[in-house]
Amino acid sequence: MNNKRQNIAVIFLITVIIIKFLIWNDNNQKWIIKDVYYQHPIDEPLSIAPQPTLISTTDELFPATISDASKLYRVEVEGIVQPKNIEQIQETVQLAKDEKKKISMSGARHSMGGQNAFDNSIHLDMREFNNIQYNQEDQTVTVQSGATWKSIQNKLSKHNRSVQVMQDSNIFTVGGSIAVNAHGKDPNFSTLIHTVNEFQLVNAEGELITCSRTENPELFYAVHGGMGLFGVVTQVTLNTNPNNIYQTKLELFDSKDFLHNMEQSSADSELSEAHFSMDQDNLLKEVLVYNYKPTNTTKDVEDDITGENSIWLRKAIYRLARNSDWGQKVRWFLEKNLSPIIDPELTTRNTAMAVPVRFLELDDPNSTDILQEYFIPTDKVDEFIPKYRQLLQKHNINIVNTTVRKTLADSEGLLTYSPQENYGFVSYYKITKDQKGQEQMQTFVQELMDYLLEIDGKYYLAYNNYYTQDQIHRMYPKLQELFQLKQKYDPQELFNNQWYENHKI
Ligand SMILES: Cc1cc2nc3c(=O)[nH]c(=O)nc-3n(C[C@H](O)[C@H](O)[C@H](O)COP(=O)(O)OP(=O)(O)OC[C@H]3O[C@@H](n4cnc5c(N)ncnc54)[C@H](O)[C@@H]3O)c2cc1C
Repeated sequence: MNNKRQNIAVIFLITVIIIKFLIWNDNNQKWIIKDVYYQHPIDEPLSIAPQPTLISTTDELFPATISDASKLYRVEVEGIVQPKNIEQIQETVQLAKDEKKKISMSGARHSMGGQNAFDNSIHLDMREFNNIQYNQEDQTVTVQSGATWKSIQNKLSKHNRSVQVMQDSNIFTVGGSIAVNAHGKDPNFSTLIHTVNEFQLVNAEGELITCSRTENPELFYAVHGGMGLFGVVTQVTLNTNPNNIYQTKLELFDSKDFLHNMEQSSADSELSEAHFSMDQDNLLKEVLVYNYKPTNTTKDVEDDITGENSIWLRKAIYRLARNSDWGQKVRWFLEKNLSPIIDPELTTRNTAMAVPVRFLELDDPNSTDILQEYFIPTDKVDEFIPKYRQLLQKHNINIVNTTVRKTLADSEGLLTYSPQENYGFVSYYKITKDQKGQEQMQTFVQELMDYLLEIDGKYYLAYNNYYTQDQIHRMYPKLQELFQLKQKYDPQELFNNQWYENHKI
């Protein structure tokens, strides 16, 4: 009996040691245990970018490092200041001017091409500047630029209202979203700018100015998509939508006749998104469309804005898919067969817009996941899909995930990626962090860019710069105009980032 107990104790001890050293001590594996019991608190900001290290004040700066969600950039800055009010933003501008330093700034740091940091700059991390006020009289919401969409959704939920346009997840800040002029999955809207009434900006002189379609209009149109180059957006007033209740409808079809099927399937939808199959035999061949259509139900449906559920399961399936082709097969089988069963039949607009992202967290020293998006004019979509498949296979690219959403034409943003109605193809790629991984992605993107140029497509500027200077200037001829406005409004280039340094000519 004693021997038996001893054996159990030894086995238990060995198991604990194995778990501790092979799983718990390895940041890339720790989730296997941690996420079994982890519940995401509603108020905790979520970011898949590494958190900044030391926080400074304008009285004392401590050197620190900024990285982004791709984990491919590490930028050393003079100090990170987290302003809580406009005076602290203005003090930082003054300090940078006095000390002849540059200012860079960030929200949730999910842009992936050096847009949110600059070497030796004083860095503004805007996330503590985040008050939100709902204006009952005109059903708008006034937010400070460091507020995340999640906190705005929480506020609007209390008034049964909802955001009009935001990304396909609520973890980003409003300031970071304006700087790229983000878009979402409501096919009845264009880009974010169309939902903004006005914003305030601390400019390169440290003055607080208002920008709208009638006041400083040149800045209004340039700041949307202007990568934070014209100053610090402080406060933004946005239109809102009713928080409608939707009937969820999933449809599976072949991608050969994508456009026709997609338009038919998503007619009358207020939110719509297509997911593509990814395993090599079936690459981009099947499409599962998630549609959310208004319904007259009298049922009471509650908002769930956490966005995070079944974290462990999602992570496990995602890891299988990113690491093997059979994992992709398993994931697609589960998505096709389980989603129609487990997705709630009725949901609110707020809930349907709060998509889980925690499963994307990754702490792998050798590889990382990067996102890219290509905007394809509607009439070119059916031609794009086979060409995209061919290029992915030719360059042996490890594509993990592709989703597609429609964006209406944007008639306002100076540097718009949506000059005509288009479908945005968003893809996640697994790449190695070494030079070989970077070169492989670069060759692929540059060939894809040539094709995008032929069909009037656009590459989303929020992501890594694998394209050539010539390609990006041909794709966005208005970059020149944007940079001329930069010289007009900020000739000393007080506001700067690595992306601008790479592209200005
Ligand atoms: C997982 C994932 C999903 C995504 N999904 C979508 C999507 O569905 N639709 C879409 O359009 N995009 C999407 N994106 C891209 C995303 O919209 C951009 O990267 C956006 O900039 C992220 O906001 P952020 O708060 O992280 O900004 P950051 O990356 O921190 O900053 C982006 C830019 O904004 C500037 N900036 C930040 N705050 C301010 C301010 N207060 N004033 C002036 N400039 C400021 C920065 O200097 C920088 O140039 C996605 C990205 C990821 C990683």
